[in-house]
Amino acid sequence: MAEQRKYITFAAVMRQQYSDTPACGALIDMDGVLYDSMKYHTLAWHQMMLEYGFDIPRDEFYLYEGMTGKATINLLWQRRYGKDCDEQKISEMYHRKTELFNALGRKEKMEGAAAMLEAFRDAGWRRVLVTGSSQQSLLEKISADYPGIFLPGMRVTALDVNHGKPSPEPYLKGAELAGLKPSQCIVVENAPLGVKAGKAAGCFTVAVTTGPIPREEFEKVNADMIFPSMPEFARQLPMIIANFEERQ
Ligand code: CA
Repeated sequence: MAEQRKYITFAAVMRQQYSDTPACGALIDMDGVLYDSMKYHTLAWHQMMLEYGFDIPRDEFYLYEGMTGKATINLLWQRRYGKDCDEQKISEMYHRKTELFNALGRKEKMEGAAAMLEAFRDAGWRRVLVTGSSQQSLLEKISADYPGIFLPGMRVTALDVNHGKPSPEPYLKGAELAGLKPSQCIVVENAPLGVKAGKAAGCFTVAVTTGPIPREEFEKVNADMIFPSMPEFARQLPMIIANFEERQ
């Protein structure tokens, strides 16, 4: 009996100690958020498609950001030939795009990204990486570049979903990995299709305009907040975290 009482008291203390910190999660995109890599992706896409006879303006690829590589290739193929591209051709083209991307050298971390991640970590929020990418070169760099942020297995990549962004599936999977409801999570995105995915999943979705896509495009897809840069977002994040926790 005494043992039981001791246990209940301990549990009550634990509850009291943590009751003012609701469980929350940050579901964080990679390219254009953690790495200043979109300029290299768009260049690699443009060059690869040119090799296959498609002359597509480089900036157009910013609009496809968030989609899986496979989906992007199929979209462009369908537009030109009116039918699906076969799997083998898609793999060959995506492989070539990856080669070109890797040849463009070291990808820089996004300024302000570390401060953002540390703010989420310091607040005790669960963190999940949610990316349409399957580029091993960047995925392998994450734990070295941002140590102690993403626990093992806390990532959703192109290889983990049936439907990439703008489908809600990647962010629904991310919330599930965090053990949270989507409404308990904040999504951090830099692409309109990624914002669409976050909103469709039911998450509070923040857009950071780190590329050439104008603010209006993020308003059109109903981003909950829009910031002009990662340092600016990171600066305001502690306040956003406090407000979000209060609403839970
Ligand atoms: Ca992105």
